[in-house]
Amino acid sequence: MNFKNEPAAIAGFLEDTSNLKNGWTPGVFFPETPEEVASLLREACADGRRYTIAGNGTGTTGARIPFGDYVIAMQKLDRIGEVEPTIDGRALLRVQGGALLQDVQAKAAAAGWFYPPDPTEKTCFIGSTISNNSTGSRSLKYGPTRNHVQALQIALPQGDLLEITRGQHLADAAGNFTLDLPLAGRVTFRLPDYTMPKTSKHNAGYWSKPGMDLVDLFIGSEGTLGVIVEATLLLRPAPERVIACLAWFRSEEELLGFVGEARAGSGGVSPRALELFDRRALEFLRQSYPDIAKEMAGAVYFEEETTVEREEACLEAWLELMEQCGSPVEKSWAALDSEGLQKLRDFRHQLPVLVNEWLSRQSESKVSTDMALPDERFAELFRLYRDACDREGFTYIIFGHIGNAHLHLNILPHNHEEFVRAKTLYRQLVSKVLAMGGTLSAEHGIGKLKSEYLVQMYGRKGIREMVRVKKAFDPYLVLNVGNMIPAEYYESET
Ligand SMILES: Cc1cc2nc3c(=O)[nH]c(=O)nc-3n(C[C@H](O)[C@H](O)[C@H](O)COP(=O)(O)OP(=O)(O)OC[C@H]3O[C@@H](n4cnc5c(N)ncnc54)[C@H](O)[C@@H]3O)c2cc1C
Repeated sequence: MNFKNEPAAIAGFLEDTSNLKNGWTPGVFFPETPEEVASLLREACADGRRYTIAGNGTGTTGARIPFGDYVIAMQKLDRIGEVEPTIDGRALLRVQGGALLQDVQAKAAAAGWFYPPDPTEKTCFIGSTISNNSTGSRSLKYGPTRNHVQALQIALPQGDLLEITRGQHLADAAGNFTLDLPLAGRVTFRLPDYTMPKTSKHNAGYWSKPGMDLVDLFIGSEGTLGVIVEATLLLRPAPERVIACLAWFRSEEELLGFVGEARAGSGGVSPRALELFDRRALEFLRQSYPDIAKEMAGAVYFEEETTVEREEACLEAWLELMEQCGSPVEKSWAALDSEGLQKLRDFRHQLPVLVNEWLSRQSESKVSTDMALPDERFAELFRLYRDACDREGFTYIIFGHIGNAHLHLNILPHNHEEFVRAKTLYRQLVSKVLAMGGTLSAEHGIGKLKSEYLVQMYGRKGIREMVRVKKAFDPYLVLNVGNMIPAEYYESET
């Protein structure tokens, strides 16, 4: 196994997309097998080492940035197996934790299958997407990553390699799990008592539900309970056809009305994605797409899966609905083939690129939200963000997964005074969204940046219950310490 500690070789491991500074590490290990990952952890106490797991650095919460820990880089564990069809009309694909999501998707597609999770950033590693329960636009139809994972192999903090398949380990009626492991011995713990929000996307804190599967505890645990070294993914048959369209609206109220009708399936539509671009997001995009008409108050991007036979009727249903809701149908941008689909996806991907370019010319970072409300409250979330930012006079954009009531608000401060006000507003919005039954993070996770707000979400008791789970697997605190759980809880709450 390679080890590197030269400044040039480790610099990339001290950053992700969060702008969190001052990370440092004594060195980076590059294991090539699950056993090598397990052996690093097995020796961690004797070697006096702590480890932070590094995926591909596209995370937004500083979670992979070490502060004195050694790094376990996952990139050499990138093997992708062969697609194996099952008798229930699905297929399985075994992959290693450092395989690129886009390579996994391509492997599935080449065999005529489909792996639905699609975080916008496809250069992430599959192990990270599992440890973050990543979601994307297609989660409206297919749900988060956890719905597509059948089995996991995990290198646990005391050096055991644990293989678990769905259905093998379920919580008992009181929420307890017990495992007997070769190295750690008996591991027994109770799930946190907190109730998770009723949002369709949720990635904040340990998963906890009556009777739940142990696989679901590791998914979304942000690498705090073990390293996902391998996974068996569930594939579905690839859809015959996908239609996609960008529908424009001259008024925000018409746009919100359209989203409500589309979510309800009016006229027989059945979207797999419903994504918002607000007026200010369109202003950004106009730099690259000058054809965007100035009078547009926003746009909704939608996709639906269909068949060759149904394609025309499907498109008709959408056009009718758009017309009913006030969208100028003749101006819409529709895609009926893979090339057109790619163009619309590029349009969507261009937004964060342009925002990042704008930010690179400013001295302050953006302040952004990743919160969600229960699905039917999507319009309230939009109005909450818009009205608050208008009152403050901020430059901002609102975009993203409106079908799941999960909108990204990016506040773009011009100076430090605005940045401070934006942070204050962020705190107020967190309080409001939590009081409305929302989640602090729908997809990006908590990492190192949002743990103080997780205390607000679950209270001190909830965090203490998370510590209890963490310590059952990691009693000597060797893995991803500093993520999700505020460090002071390890000292004071034992
Ligand atoms: C432009 C842009 C758009 C994005 N859009 C989305 C989106 O739509 N949906 C979404 O969900 N996310 C999105 N993200 C966030 C990000 O892509 C995901 O969180 C992704 O899962 C991070 O993968 P990574 O390989 O880059 O992980 P890293 O950033 O390297 O690490 C992320 C976390 O995963 C842990 N980790 C890594 N590998 C493992 C492993 N094998 N076992 C256990 N823990 C591990 C790390 O310790 C860290 O805590 C976006 C990011 C960007 C920059």
